[in-house]
Order: sequence, then C-alpha cells, then structure tokens
Amino acid sequence: MAGGRRRLFFALWPDETVRAQLAALQERLPQAQGRWVHPEDLHLTLQFLGSVEPGRQACIAEAARAVQGEPFELEIDRIDFWSKPRIAWAGPEAVPRPLKRLVRMLAKKLEPCGFEPERRPYKPHVTLVRKSTPVAAMKLPEPILWAVEHFVLVESRPNGDPPHYRPVEGWPLGD
Ligand code: ATP
Ligand code: MG
Repeated sequence: MAGGRRRLFFALWPDETVRAQLAALQERLPQAQGRWVHPEDLHLTLQFLGSVEPGRQACIAEAARAVQGEPFELEIDRIDFWSKPRIAWAGPEAVPRPLKRLVRMLAKKLEPCGFEPERRPYKPHVTLVRKSTPVAAMKLPEPILWAVEHFVLVESRPNGDPPHYRPVEGWPLGD
C-alpha cells in the first residue's frame, strides 16, 4: 500500500449474486427520494478508519492478517430507515456471533495502529439510499442469504463520479 494518505474502511464486500440482490432491494424503495448508492458501492462496513497516513497502512494490513475469524451466513431480512443520518438501509434482524466477534477482534488488533474502538453499539447495515426521505420499516419476505467468507479493506474516494469504493486487499475468514 504505497502512496499518500488514503480514506479507508473495513467491510464485507458482496459477491456479484448478493450485490444484484441488494441492488434489487433498492428498487423496492421507489417512494424514497435521495442519493441512491451506486450498485457497485453496496457494502457492509465493519470498521471505519478515515484518512490514514502511509506510515499506518502497513500496521492496518498486519492487524487484518492477525484476525482469526470464521465464515458465517448473514441473513439480510429487513429494510429500515434512520432519521438522523437519513439513510435507508438493509440489514440482519439477528447479528451472527461470528460477525460480532470479527468486528470486536478487528477493533482490538487495530488498537496498536492508533485506532480507538468504536463506542457505539455495532449495527450492521448496507446503506441503500443516503439523504433519503423516510422509508417504512419492512421485513423482507425473501431474505438475502449472504455466505461471508472474507473481509476486505476498502479505499473510499467520495469525490467525483461513483463507484466511490474500491477493495484494495482481502483476507479469508477461516482456513
Ligand atoms: P459521504 O461521507 O460523502 O456521504 P460516504 O459516507 O459514502 O460518503 P465515506 O465517508 O468514505 O463515504 O464512508 C465509507 C463507509 O464508512 C460508509 O459505509 C460510511 O457509512 C462508513 N462511515 C463513514 N464515517 C463513519 C464513521 N465515523 N463511523 C462509522 N462508519 C462510518
Ligand atoms: Mg461519510
């Protein structure tokens, strides 16, 4: 990871099938007005890092390598809306324990790199629409089954045209 500062975050990155299913959820929100997330940008954030100087980028990759996770299945079964950030999102009703553990372990391994662990409770979600008008909460009749086998470090370039996010490196969960 050579170069200058980069805006980075850890995420779960859907495969093409799950991505298409998530994009199809966006089409269930025709009543929403806002900034639709580009289908290629759909993701689930594990931990946001922000603008990272080159000196810390090796530490981050090292932290990710040290994480011992396990594969798990994520059931995306609801759509909901948060009024403060004004986002419409999709997510799991039940948060799988391996996901909680992954986020906790990642935070712990990142501490020596100078990242404070997030204090707010972790609420896994895939943002579908930003700056959205309110969307009624809804249980999905057919949940999306997302088999999670790896996690990625993503670079964010919020300026310019979408897609804004690009996975730069990935690590498997389990062997
Ligand atoms: P913009 O900030 O211009 O709306 P964005 O939020 O899509 O763009 P980033 O700010 O780079 O892009 O965020 C990348 C990912 O990290 C998104 O999933 C975003 O929700 C999440 N994120 C951003 N800031 C934080 C934060 N302070 N805490 C937790 N997650 C964050
Ligand atoms: Mg942001």
